[in-house]
Amino acid sequence: MRCPKCGSRDDKVIDSRQSRDGSSIRRRRECLKCKYRYTTYEEIERSDLRVVKRDRTHEPFDRRKLAGSIAKAFEKRSASLLTLEKMVDEIVHELETGGREVPSSIIGAKVLEKLRAIDEVAYLRYASVYQRFQDVDEFVNAIHTLGRRIKPNALQRELFPPETPQGSTPGPRKISKNKHHGRV
Ligand SMILES: [Zn+2]
Repeated sequence: MRCPKCGSRDDKVIDSRQSRDGSSIRRRRECLKCKYRYTTYEEIERSDLRVVKRDRTHEPFDRRKLAGSIAKAFEKRSASLLTLEKMVDEIVHELETGGREVPSSIIGAKVLEKLRAIDEVAYLRYASVYQRFQDVDEFVNAIHTLGRRIKPNALQRELFPPETPQGSTPGPRKISKNKHHGRV
């Protein structure tokens, strides 16, 4: 395994454990050169499970890709690696008991459903990236659906960190309070 930080191929396994349902093994590894710690997963290959994307193209289901997208939503949140892993296990299990083809929207919906019960900020982050709110009303509705348990200001800071420079080059998509934009 190549160290994601320094590229060295020498590592040691410092911890190894099975997922709850026994379908995967998680290994905690440490780079012998730079001491960076990272995680690898070993699992049975499900070469027949395919994801149908929005543009109708297909691709093999990739657990790491799923785990990565969820991990991103959990960034700097308090949820543990174990919570994340359990969630991925559950989703994979649900997908495996379904058909051979699964629309990406179904996977997204499953993730949202679980995130919502675990961490609301992570839920909104994931939703804003993967569900693409049409406009600010839709976004506000989603917040209301959560029962207004999050202060809008706190959420604003979560989604759009203040260190982002304002008014420079057009950056990532922003949700504006004014939905009737003037000419650019
Ligand atoms: Zn390294």
